[in-house]
Amino acid sequence: MSRIGHGFDRHRLAPGRRLRLGGVEVESEVGPVSHSDGDVLLHAVVNALLGAIGEGDIGLHFPDTDPRWRDVDSDRFVVEAMGFVRRAGCRVANVDTTVVLERPRLGRWRNAMRERIAALLEVAIDRVNVKFGSGETVGPVGRGEALEAHAVVLLEAAD
Ligand code: MG
Repeated sequence: MSRIGHGFDRHRLAPGRRLRLGGVEVESEVGPVSHSDGDVLLHAVVNALLGAIGEGDIGLHFPDTDPRWRDVDSDRFVVEAMGFVRRAGCRVANVDTTVVLERPRLGRWRNAMRERIAALLEVAIDRVNVKFGSGETVGPVGRGEALEAHAVVLLEAAD
């Protein structure tokens, strides 16, 4: 048995905020406006994991109105979501992701993001792909007002 899940996240950008993507600190003049660390890539991965097992979305399980989840590293959301995946009798087969951001260029952080996501999902690095796109100067992403991430995850039955 296999299960597929899709995840999406978007955050507004503002000057002088920390930018974390895939659990990796990225040098940037802008960062997400968020209660948590605003890691859109990990948030999209969490949404994909929850989607694959029919468990709603990140806002349902980790609402920013709950003080437990305020200012929490997004790594924690992935760890919690992997608990749901295990309890559903599944493990990750592979995950494919895309970050859409105008600036900075992210290529030099790609492998660090893959490594971190692979560790969190308990898979080898070749099961994790991270792609980058730009907003092509149009729309909120293209104007540098927001960033987005998309993720698709495939789960398989755990032995
Ligand atoms: Mg988010």
